[in-house]
Amino acid sequence: MRFELHCHSTCSDGTEPAAEVAARAAARGVAVFALTDHDTCAGSDVTVPGARVLRGVELSCDDGGRTVHVLAFDRGGAWHLLEDRLAAVREARRNRLRVMVARLARRGIAIDVESLLAAADRRSIGRPDLARAMVAAGAASSFSDAFSRHLYDGGPVDVPHQALPLPDALAVGRAAGAAMALAHPHLYDHRSALYLKRHRGDGLTGIEAFYGAYDPRERARWIALADELGATCTGGSDWHGPDASNAPPGVDLPDDRSAALLAWLSG
Ligand code: AMP
Ligand code: ZN
Ligand code: FE
Ligand code: FE
Repeated sequence: MRFELHCHSTCSDGTEPAAEVAARAAARGVAVFALTDHDTCAGSDVTVPGARVLRGVELSCDDGGRTVHVLAFDRGGAWHLLEDRLAAVREARRNRLRVMVARLARRGIAIDVESLLAAADRRSIGRPDLARAMVAAGAASSFSDAFSRHLYDGGPVDVPHQALPLPDALAVGRAAGAAMALAHPHLYDHRSALYLKRHRGDGLTGIEAFYGAYDPRERARWIALADELGATCTGGSDWHGPDASNAPPGVDLPDDRSAALLAWLSG
């Protein structure tokens, strides 16, 4: 069965609108679909012809200074609890943007922050928005020029963003009745096992073993970990658009894994 439980639209850092992401998934025969934009569910009202659509989100969490991404899927619980918390996170990011714009102003670069914020609406706003605005204003020659001269990590303009602490994110997700999985476990390597062991009781009961870009060997590594720890395998491409490097939408799971995943998604 073909799943797409990890993809991005222009509601976060994808390049295609949610409806286009949904159309691509439909064209590829996806049977179960969730849009998982970073820290927002703004695109969650999409429909995919022929597919079951779940509300989803990719939560940016902090674990002692490391970023951990958790996929959360609506199981028909109090999903609004998660949305409320994400709205607060977005508000913090909006204030952070105001501070960064003030820092740019001190460097002689004028950016109209209110129009940027208005355009972002329910989208999570950040440095990429600033980089694009700087290019549009002629203050940088390119997106990467804006980053390498001004916006880079820890640079004079960058303001650290306080991501949700992992235990807090899991607690909210749990209260919301969400199904939660560790995204792209290769990024955390050996820490993935640690996260799953430590936070299983907090509701982190899934692992994205069927990540679109994995070769069979990599996939086998994470399936083995899931089986060892009694976690459920999820599948998705992490698609960000046709020009990004991720696999195309849709990942096939064998029948037994598909059944387990469907049961997990149903709670
Ligand atoms: P923010 O969440 O606002 O801190 O923005 C983080 C995003 O900025 C990342 O996901 C990247 O898309 C982008 N980014 C960070 N550093 C760089 C860089 N050096 N060059 C280009 N893009 C970057
Ligand atoms: Zn992304
Ligand atoms: Fe991610
Ligand atoms: Fe992602």
